[in-house]
Amino acid sequence: MSITPGTPSLLDSADPEAARAVDEEVRRQHDTLEMIASENFASRAVREAAGSVFTNKYAEGYPGKRYYNGCEPSDKIERLAIERAKELFGCAHANVQAHSGSTANQAVFFAVLKPGETVLSLSLAHGGHLSHGHRVNMAGQYYRIVNYGLSKDSELIDYDEMARIAREEKPRLIITGGSAYPRLIDFAKFREVAEEVGAVFLTDMAHFSGLVAGKAIPSPVPHSHIVSSTTHKTLRGPRSGIILMDEEWAKPVDKALFPGIQGGPHMHIVAAKAVAFGEALRPSFAEYAKQVIRNAQVLGEALVEQGLRLVSGGTDTHLVLVDLTRYDVTGKDAANALEEAGITVNKNAIPFDTRKEWITSGIRIGTPALTSRGMKEDEMRTIAGWIAEVVKDPASGEVQRRIRSQVEEMTAQYPLRADEPA
Ligand SMILES: *Cc1c(COP(=O)(O)O)cnc(C)c1O
Repeated sequence: MSITPGTPSLLDSADPEAARAVDEEVRRQHDTLEMIASENFASRAVREAAGSVFTNKYAEGYPGKRYYNGCEPSDKIERLAIERAKELFGCAHANVQAHSGSTANQAVFFAVLKPGETVLSLSLAHGGHLSHGHRVNMAGQYYRIVNYGLSKDSELIDYDEMARIAREEKPRLIITGGSAYPRLIDFAKFREVAEEVGAVFLTDMAHFSGLVAGKAIPSPVPHSHIVSSTTHKTLRGPRSGIILMDEEWAKPVDKALFPGIQGGPHMHIVAAKAVAFGEALRPSFAEYAKQVIRNAQVLGEALVEQGLRLVSGGTDTHLVLVDLTRYDVTGKDAANALEEAGITVNKNAIPFDTRKEWITSGIRIGTPALTSRGMKEDEMRTIAGWIAEVVKDPASGEVQRRIRSQVEEMTAQYPLRADEPA
């Protein structure tokens, strides 16, 4: 399936009904501004590997130790993914079989904890992630979860509170990383506290692993016992997960993932991960990662100039979290109004939010996907102006229609991937 709208494909004749939905998605991705901070556009090579015949293969086990026959090509591609992940992130051991970020975390929990043991993580309401033990998540019911949060004044992680809770609660596992935290994290501080209380330290870099791979921000790898990640966010690979670790955790984590919680690895996605890690090792990816951050910072500054408030005042990463409380609009209504205007973001709780989780007082805006299209600072300033206009007048269909057509003029000039022919 091509990512260029209107290009005929095999699916058109094989299954016109399914093809129509795919075509619609191609159009949507092409004609709108994708600013969901966790999304990106994988390369053609990554998608080709993900669509390859490896989808037909069962390869339960690990390279050289499979339960099935005929695994030589599978061993080759998985070893390639592992070696590239180790080179990219500088870790002793990499497991590349996790189906997703949540599954990667589940495997770490299963490897490190007995049921009922204590986990200390960033609360979801302050930018954490469901899989770190929210009450609706399995981890929240099988383990005892305690949370640290952000300081009310700075809206940065409250390291003193985190250390105090760690000393009181003696967690077996301490987790940092989240999905709506725009600032750098002091990994060394977390490790120090983990050592003091005898905890294992996990960094979940699902959101920012691409920035780490591109050496645009400091790496958690030297400070963490275990690092989990998705591969489809800033890392720009297929929809999947990875786990990186010190040698001492290699056996327990590998066993926890398979046979602990997963069955056969998705070898087509393992292949696509190998391709994505190869891409991330190139100098052009480092350039990309730096531009993602520059774009987020310029976008944030321009939003502030328009009168909007950013949680923590700005960003060091690929996303900004906008606090809408000074305007008469909820996160939900703002995100819906922006969608009408052709700009896709998501509603997001802000720290100390007084609204419900499905309403919220904030929106989260990210630059990874638009940066893949080749957009730079000038486009970010223009887009910030559009976002501010919609948010300040969310009921105006006229504003939304006008901006929608401006968005379409802009997106027509950019393929989904600047580095690939349209
Ligand atoms: C996105 C995310 C995950 C979950 O990834 P899935 O692939 O959707 O399961 C886990 N942790 C964090 C911090 C995330 O942002």
